[in-house]
Amino acid sequence: MFEWTDIQKQRLQELGATKEQVEVVFDDSAARNKAYQTLESSLVSRGREKLLDFREIIKRPALLELESKLVKALTDARFSQVVTPILLSKGLLAKMTVTEEHPLFRQVFWVDDRKCLRPMLAPNLYYILKDLLRLWPHPVSIFEVGPCFRKDTQGGEHMQEFTMLNLVEMGLPLESRPGRLKELASLVMDAAGIDDYSLETEKSEVYGETLDVVSGELELGSGAMGPHVLDQAWDIDVPWVGIGFGLERLVMVSEGFASVLRAGRSLTYLNGIRLNI
Ligand code: ATP
Ligand code: MG
Repeated sequence: MFEWTDIQKQRLQELGATKEQVEVVFDDSAARNKAYQTLESSLVSRGREKLLDFREIIKRPALLELESKLVKALTDARFSQVVTPILLSKGLLAKMTVTEEHPLFRQVFWVDDRKCLRPMLAPNLYYILKDLLRLWPHPVSIFEVGPCFRKDTQGGEHMQEFTMLNLVEMGLPLESRPGRLKELASLVMDAAGIDDYSLETEKSEVYGETLDVVSGELELGSGAMGPHVLDQAWDIDVPWVGIGFGLERLVMVSEGFASVLRAGRSLTYLNGIRLNI
């Protein structure tokens, strides 16, 4: 039995071959190499067609299209959008208990000895919410969507720079939290066009326990509830719910991509289509 060579397999995956196309086996190497020529060239033609479609019709990457849909869905649901700095101070990170001993600390990109590229949106949202809770009627519902950075192990599910959506609702009745968290998860999944997902309880290094939104084996989002020990650092003492989603992972699932790299900021892919074709 002959499988694709590693090089053939890699090229076919980059061109977006299906799982079945990647896993097929042959009686001999001549048959395999002939099949490779045919499949590779048909995938290249398909890629070129898709690129032309992108130029003529689609015009915007799925990642940004999703962001627009989410902004619409959330503002329609009375959430206000905020935009906060990408450069984060060491002090704000420490308020999330992410200090030297913390596993996430090693994943942080430092710009200088006091500032890093934010690995998450939560510290900034906490910072703003402390004031908004004083200034606005409750519940206070806000969200941010924007770049985050982590030295995560590379692979099909992680990028070093990715796009996070974090939505938070603070000052809501204690007993309404689990239901509200589910409602908000479903609002985001609807906007992303994903209906096959589940909610699972997981352990988290930052929040203790999270309610994760999962598709197959892949974590799409992590939800948390307060009052929470982290709230004290910001003098926040109202009940809350919040969820953080990775937009590239949402696109990966809705588009059926095998790797998150196809969905994100890239020099090799344009809207998931390989450019070296
Ligand atoms: P994982 O366990 O999959 O590494 P995580 O639990 O560390 O993810 P969270 O801190 O919960 O991630 O971040 C919220 C969401 O952000 C995740 O559910 C995921 O969708 C997304 N995310 C986190 N890290 C990355 C990354 N390196 N690349 C792409 N998306 C990411
Ligand atoms: Mg998580």
